[in-house]
Amino acid sequence: MEDGRRAAVIADLVGSFETYLAEHRVCDGLAGRIVEVTENDVCWGVAWVECVDCNVQWERRLAV
Ligand SMILES: [Zn+2]
Repeated sequence: MEDGRRAAVIADLVGSFETYLAEHRVCDGLAGRIVEVTENDVCWGVAWVECVDCNVQWERRLAV
């Protein structure tokens, strides 16, 4: 795995994650995280946001 590509992927995820968080900044029910998971030998960066106030859940994953 190439560190430069990994950094670019994580930066991409963080960017869309922050955009989503900004929309729900005033909500009490906001939760979110960015994690790396490995499935079938493929490593994914996963950004996840959930807002129970607005009843929305968002997930975006990119291969690292
Ligand atoms: Zn919300």
